[in-house]
Amino acid sequence: MFKAQLIGIGVAALLAGAPMVAAAPAENPANPLLAKWSGPYGGVPPFDAVKVEQFKPALEAAMAEQLAEIDAITANPAKPDFENTIAAFERGGRTLGRIGAIYGLYSSTMSTPDFQAVESEMAPKLAAFGDQITQNEKLFARVAAVYETRATSGLTPEQQRLVWLDYTGFVRAGAKLDKASKDRLSAINQRLASLFTSFSQNLLADETDYVLVLDKESDLAGLPDSLRQAAASAAESRGHKGKWAILNTRSSMEPFLTYSDRRDLREKVWRTYYNRGDNGDAKDNNKIITEILKLRAERARLLGYPTHAHWRLENSMAKTPERAMELMESVWKPAVARVHEEVADMQALADKEGAKITIEPWDYRYYAEKVRKAKYDLDQNAVMPYLQLEKLREGMFWVAGELFGFRFAPAKGVPVLDPDIRVWEVTDTAGRHVGLWYFDPYARPGKGSGAWMNAYRNQERFDGEISTIVSNNTNFVEGKPGAPILISWDDATALFHEFGHALHGLASSVTYPSLSGTSVPNDYAEFPSQLLEHWLSTPEVLNRFALHYQTGQPIPKDLVDRIESASKFNQGFITVEYLAGALVDMKLHLAATPDKEIDPDAFERQALAELGMPKEIVMRHRTPQFGHIFAGDGYSAGYYSYLWSDTLSADAWEAFVEAGGPYDKAVAKRLRDNVFSVGNTVDPADGYRAFRGRDPGTAALMRKRGFPVPAVAAATPAPSKP
Ligand SMILES: [Zn+2]
Repeated sequence: MFKAQLIGIGVAALLAGAPMVAAAPAENPANPLLAKWSGPYGGVPPFDAVKVEQFKPALEAAMAEQLAEIDAITANPAKPDFENTIAAFERGGRTLGRIGAIYGLYSSTMSTPDFQAVESEMAPKLAAFGDQITQNEKLFARVAAVYETRATSGLTPEQQRLVWLDYTGFVRAGAKLDKASKDRLSAINQRLASLFTSFSQNLLADETDYVLVLDKESDLAGLPDSLRQAAASAAESRGHKGKWAILNTRSSMEPFLTYSDRRDLREKVWRTYYNRGDNGDAKDNNKIITEILKLRAERARLLGYPTHAHWRLENSMAKTPERAMELMESVWKPAVARVHEEVADMQALADKEGAKITIEPWDYRYYAEKVRKAKYDLDQNAVMPYLQLEKLREGMFWVAGELFGFRFAPAKGVPVLDPDIRVWEVTDTAGRHVGLWYFDPYARPGKGSGAWMNAYRNQERFDGEISTIVSNNTNFVEGKPGAPILISWDDATALFHEFGHALHGLASSVTYPSLSGTSVPNDYAEFPSQLLEHWLSTPEVLNRFALHYQTGQPIPKDLVDRIESASKFNQGFITVEYLAGALVDMKLHLAATPDKEIDPDAFERQALAELGMPKEIVMRHRTPQFGHIFAGDGYSAGYYSYLWSDTLSADAWEAFVEAGGPYDKAVAKRLRDNVFSVGNTVDPADGYRAFRGRDPGTAALMRKRGFPVPAVAAATPAPSKP
């Protein structure tokens, strides 16, 4: 995923939740957050100078500054035009954009109790600030005037798109409502902002506070050495030297459930993880969800939409919930059928071993791994010694060089938030500066689990060239000092995924920051990232970078072949665990009304029963821990985006396969010219068509996952439907 910042400039960006940009100076040495970024590479975030108590005064000053900038726009006696209204608006809010980048980073990676207090106080204020802009009648009148004449006033296509995005952004935020409705809307937004903050703080608490400490060697039965070592250092850093700690995060839970022979402990770890936010204690998220759903439904009706889902999807590539549901439903049945096959295989193996069990959700990963070994002679554990984090990072750099001509070199003199964070300068083949890439690899207290990308600064050029600053964040468990960190194939895939987002930012070549890099609709934003995952398994990467951590030997060809032949293995599980979440997300937001008290647990149970959810699987993110959809609006009614984007990525990958292979220069150039470099300056469907020469179809997606390709999906082009 990529994490958009909470606050910033332009309305289009405010509403899309797009990453923001910063550049203009503000002299205030007393509070480093208010100062223009200084130092090398066009200025870098002052991570070494920031203190939590600086956020509140800095945010308040920056909000006031942007309101003054807007007053200057609306006080302009000249007739509204692109330059004095849209461009002027785009130019504003720079101080707030800079602070927002750092504030967002603290929220996701340095969420200490004192920061959480600031966040709880500021979230509703920032929401109210956003409304103050979108409800500014004079400003909206000027934007509307520019919008009316956009086709005849000599604007470039990019300028016309920015005008359209700003105008629809205002309207979608309620600019046309009467005063009473605007007031109610603003009250809803402020309350939602508080609820989102509580939701994520509760979730973080459940991930941090529940640690399973194991004190006997026998508790580790089945775990490979690398996991034992990681568990030992996790215990030591939490004051349990000599013991082993299993953290309540995905990176710890998944390998434990895959390898632990101790069924009792597997169940314990599974229950603790999937009960996050659902423990009936002070950190329980259920009531928060009920209120969020009601408020979102009320807001949608105020704005003239039947549901929150209809409002959210209007400017997405899918456009309507119905089209998103149609895609999800077309994949659901074959995926469930595959799960039943997978479970039958696992049950047969368990029976043969004399386990005398029925496969339960905490057995799935464990027996899937055994089936993988038996069927494909592929032991994940035999692959891990070849997957060294740092070597794979070099592999990603190499891929970026082959596809886009990027070079990476360690950056000097750049402050970081934590000593483990490292920074690289990215240049092009001519040695010109492209941007910076920050890498924050390890889990630590206060850092949310999972993996994501951020943009601290967007690329732009309308007032001179400004280069981008992006980061990738992962949660690998830091091993012994100096020891290579070995990661799973899935984690290696996630690493390439997030790097795909980073390249989407780095390859950006647009004029206006609101349209830059990853500032595209969510169901398109995951396309570049999911596409990049494919390069991990290319022989070029594996032979050069998948090197054994002790011998330095490349991964053997027959092991690569076995990885390849097992690539469609377990796709039933992967697809159903994801799709169940995406369907429940959409159903929740289609079902909610302003006065319905939805009980999240009951709704989840009933929706899954109606879908025919296999009992051996749970949603990848159960409702009370579904941060994608309840820690903000970003992916709400939008978790389907990953499937939508994967439809595109599977189809786009076949463009390489049909041509000269993964490193075909001509296809890579088309990809860069029409997808990676254009940000949101063109309609995603048009950009895709320009790259592929036709609309996407679902046949490639079904092939990728090893599901039967229905006759209708096989036909290409499939008009306007991925
Ligand atoms: Zn992503």
